[in-house]
Amino acid sequence: MTSIEKLKFLPEAQVRSIAETFGTPVFVYSQTEIEKKCEEALQFPNAFGLEVRYAMKANPNANILKIMKAKGICIDASSEYEVTRALACGFSPASIMITSQQFPKDLESFVKAGVIFNACSLKQLEAYGKSFPGGSLSIRFNPGLGSGHTKKTDVGGVASAFGIWHEKLSEVKELVRKYNLRVTKVHTHIGSGSDPEVWKAVAKYTLEYAEAFETVTTVSLGGGYKVGRMEDEKSTDLQKIGEPVKQQFIEFAEKHGRKLKLEIEPGTFLIALCGSLIASVDDKIDTGSKGYTFLKLDTGMDANTRPSLYGARHPLITVKRGGEATGKIEEYVVVGHCCESGDLFTQKEGGEAVTRTMAEAEVGDLVVMEAVGAYCSSMSTKNYNSFPETGEVLLTQSGEAKLIRKKQEVSEIYKNEILVI
Ligand SMILES: *Cc1c(COP(=O)(O)O)cnc(C)c1O
Repeated sequence: MTSIEKLKFLPEAQVRSIAETFGTPVFVYSQTEIEKKCEEALQFPNAFGLEVRYAMKANPNANILKIMKAKGICIDASSEYEVTRALACGFSPASIMITSQQFPKDLESFVKAGVIFNACSLKQLEAYGKSFPGGSLSIRFNPGLGSGHTKKTDVGGVASAFGIWHEKLSEVKELVRKYNLRVTKVHTHIGSGSDPEVWKAVAKYTLEYAEAFETVTTVSLGGGYKVGRMEDEKSTDLQKIGEPVKQQFIEFAEKHGRKLKLEIEPGTFLIALCGSLIASVDDKIDTGSKGYTFLKLDTGMDANTRPSLYGARHPLITVKRGGEATGKIEEYVVVGHCCESGDLFTQKEGGEAVTRTMAEAEVGDLVVMEAVGAYCSSMSTKNYNSFPETGEVLLTQSGEAKLIRKKQEVSEIYKNEILVI
C-alpha cells in the first residue's frame, strides 16, 4: 500500500473545467508556481554573485522560457537547436551557454554572436581553439564521482561520458596554452536527483579546477537538485546545501584573492512540480482473482516516458468526472495507451508492474498525473503509435487557462515523408 497522493496546484473543479475546454490528455503548467521556483533558485546562497541558468531541455516551451527570462534567468542549452530556440524567445546570445555532447555544427556563428561555449571533451576544446585562438570559454570536468536518482541519470564518474576526465587536467592545460585560450569558467554537473552530500564534495573539486586556471572568474555547479514528486520523496533544500558551498567560496577568496561568481543550472527544480497532465480513464480491465485491476489512460509514454525509462513515480490522482468521490479506495496498475508492454505508469525500475493506491475510478473519470513539468513533454516517445503530440495549457498569473501548444494534427506526424512509390 502506498499513501494516496493529492493534487498539487490545480483545484478539482479546475481539473474538470480544463478537461472540458481543452479535452484530454493535456499538460497544464502554472505561471505562479514557476515564478515561485525561480525566486527560490535566485535565493541560492552565494558569496560573490550568482547566475541561475535554466536547463531548457527540461521543458523548452517558449512561454516557459519567457517566464524564466522575465525573472532574469539565463539559459543552459544542450544542443545548437536549443540555442536557436532560446534566441527566438529573445534571450541575448551572452545569456546562453551551450554544453553539448555533440560538437555544435554552427558553433562559429553562435560564438561570434556571443554565446558562451562549454567544452565537454578534449576534441571539443581543440576544435574551439582552432576556430577561436585567444578566445574565452568554459570547461566541463567529470570530477570522478557522480550521483543521480537512478544509474541512468548519473552523469559523473568512470561510467559517464560527460565532461573531461579530471585526471586529464595537464592535457587541458596544454591545449589552453597551445591556442592561447582564456578559461573563464569551470563547470561540473554530476546527475539529476543527486545526493546533496556528493554534490557538496564535487563543489570542492570544482574549486580545485578553478585554482588550476587563474583566469577563472565563475564556477558552475550544474543542476541536479532533487524534487520530491511523491509524498514520500524529499526535495533538496537549496539554502541548506548552498550554505557550506558559500563558505568554500569565501575560503577560496581568502586563500587566492579571487572572488568567484557562482552559477547553478537547475532544470528539474525550476519546473518539475509546476506541471500536471490531465488524462481520462479510457478502459478498466482485470486479470482475475490472482491478478490486477488495470486503469488504461488516454495518454502514455508518448507524453511521459519517465516511468518506463527510470521506473520513476508520479502521483496519480482520481478526479471524478461527475463530482463527488465515492470514498472507496482501490489498488490499480495504471497503464498508458501505447501498444508496448513498457508503457506502464506504475512500475519498478526494471519493468515489474506494481499497484498504486488511488480513489476508485471508473471509465470516463479523470486522472491527474502530477509533477510532469520536467522531462515529460520534452523527453517523451512522441508520436509512437502515431499518437499526436499532447497539447499544453498555461495557467497565467490571472488564473486564466490558455492554450500554449496545440495538440498535433495527425498529418503533421507524417508531413516530412516523401512518397516514392
Ligand atoms: C540536464 C542538465 C542540467 C539540469 O539537470 P536537472 O537535474 O534537471 O536539474 C544542468 N546542467 C547540465 C549540463 C545538464 O545537462
